[in-house]
Amino acid sequence: MDFSDILSQWYAINKRDLPWRSTVNPYYIWLSEIILQQTRVNQGLPYYLKFIDAFPAVADLANADEDLVLKLWQGLGYYSRARNLQFSAKLILSEFGGNFPDNHADILKLKGVGSYTAAAISSFSFGLPFAVLDGNVIRVLSRVFGIQTPFDTTAGKKQFQKLAQELLDKKNPAEYNQAIMEFGALQCVPKSPKCNDCPIVNDCIAFNTNTVSLLPVKSKKLKVKNRFLHFLVVNKNNEVLIGKRNSGIWQGLYEFPFLEFDENLNEKSVLKSPLWINFFKDSVKQISSISEEYIHKLSHQKIHAKFWEIDVNSFRSSDFKIVKCNELQKYPVSSLIEKYLNSRIND
Ligand code: SF4
Repeated sequence: MDFSDILSQWYAINKRDLPWRSTVNPYYIWLSEIILQQTRVNQGLPYYLKFIDAFPAVADLANADEDLVLKLWQGLGYYSRARNLQFSAKLILSEFGGNFPDNHADILKLKGVGSYTAAAISSFSFGLPFAVLDGNVIRVLSRVFGIQTPFDTTAGKKQFQKLAQELLDKKNPAEYNQAIMEFGALQCVPKSPKCNDCPIVNDCIAFNTNTVSLLPVKSKKLKVKNRFLHFLVVNKNNEVLIGKRNSGIWQGLYEFPFLEFDENLNEKSVLKSPLWINFFKDSVKQISSISEEYIHKLSHQKIHAKFWEIDVNSFRSSDFKIVKCNELQKYPVSSLIEKYLNSRIND
């Protein structure tokens, strides 16, 4: 029996019943694939259901208010995915007459769609023979075939993509792609894969050479930057200042004004800093609290955040919006700000 037959038999018995697997609607499949990038199935599922409920067709997403799109995305992180979804929905209306593109080259033109997502939509919706290559597939291939080439190098990417394409069942690319990803997600998992109960165990090079825990190989370690942010919850008569980000990973989300330093300053030093003095001048009435440090880890940054609750006589800056404290929950915010707001509600 060949590799794809084994996977297909395994899939028939073990597959999870997920809503995007019972449709070939490319818009729904696209939504699910974007939501599931960097997100586990259990976490992504309610977001998928919320999105198709709020925006049942691509035109609904294109025409929606950006704040609503980001609010529904809140908590999933990597917000550029939501902004790209809406950007591409608009492109589908303007460039493709409202019809989701039905070929690999045009699907790749959508913002936020890389080769993995284009292969997934092409095969799941249109039965086109493009092999998916994501983290799950790379792990399975590297172990079964004993591939030592680091997968994040140009040579590694080429080697894995070539092998994935060769192994693809061209007659049934949708099921093959689903099966190998599901196998990586449930059976050949990163830590403690279920080798004792694996239908490929006899042919698996990693298992037979005792190298399972060493594969796949990654070459680069990301350098993580530490950032020190002091959010200013500036309060006057139960109203606070918030601003909308216009760049970076939190673009489009609302947040409190903040001061950023290169190092971990103590409170006295923050109070004496030119940034603080320039922001407040003499408007501070009292500092009612300073939170503990919140740590927020992103792939390339570690954010150390504190929230200062400050009563003022007057709002000095016109760069921010003044909102009532009890209306803050209407605005889309990052999960860091959400964590702080939830801690206030639970106090
Ligand atoms: S034997 Fe283990 S490492 Fe090899 S494919 Fe099966 S689960 Fe993965």
